[in-house]
Amino acid sequence: MEYRSANITEKGFLYGKWMTSPNTWTITFGNVYCYLLIGEEKALLFDTAYGEGNLREFVEGITDKPVMVVNSHGHFDHTGGNAWWGEVWAGPGAEAVCKKAFSPEMQEAFDRKPHPDYTVHTVREGHVFDLGGRQVEVFEIPAHHESSIALLDRQTRALYTGDEMEAGQVLLFVRDGLVPLRDVVSRHLANMKKLKSHEGEFDTIYPAHNGPQLYKGYLDDYIALSEHILAGTAAIMPDTAGFGFPPKTESGAFGGIGQLERAQYGGASFVYVKE
Ligand SMILES: [Zn+2]
Repeated sequence: MEYRSANITEKGFLYGKWMTSPNTWTITFGNVYCYLLIGEEKALLFDTAYGEGNLREFVEGITDKPVMVVNSHGHFDHTGGNAWWGEVWAGPGAEAVCKKAFSPEMQEAFDRKPHPDYTVHTVREGHVFDLGGRQVEVFEIPAHHESSIALLDRQTRALYTGDEMEAGQVLLFVRDGLVPLRDVVSRHLANMKKLKSHEGEFDTIYPAHNGPQLYKGYLDDYIALSEHILAGTAAIMPDTAGFGFPPKTESGAFGGIGQLERAQYGGASFVYVKE
């Protein structure tokens, strides 16, 4: 596919990119953030957005190293571009949903890509991706979705958290299996405590939406927010509006799932179905 026709539309470039640190790139599609970590032998692409245009060509314009694709979780706004490659790596539970687009039109575009039947390799806690002179470790952090993983890159002191520490808010009502709020909050709390036990090994957190990086105090804010929710003392916001999130949810992607509520503490915020 020709580069210009694939990735440049009448509105401009489909993707944005900038170097976050040496051999590390942020790739944006709207408010979706993907990350490209380049080692001496290969590169790791963490998430593929919706796969509009030709993401593979865009990525190969940044690095000539072979690219392996890893997903933060199975939601299609992070996996749609997987079909530009023949195989991907993702956490347990991603395979069940990662090829399911959010609309029939999106599904049609996905099915036209070179590898809609790509292979999914499941990775578990402690798995290490060796990129050559750069190792990246997997941490399972399922709450927002059952399949969520974080990646810790000790070399650049960076933690990649997908939608589990999304800037703006973390959505707690988009799992495959809905569970009581207390259960998903307890799960999120345990995950954040696990990441906090490694806080001496990273300085910056990179989420998958709404902003490219967070200071690591966000971990403390999320821990405090969960503890407040479990204790019944959380600050409830007057509406659900936030970064990239509409105040009204009667219609649209999240329409008809019940009344949503937002709780906040410091920089941390959850949106969930009110019980
Ligand atoms: Zn998600």
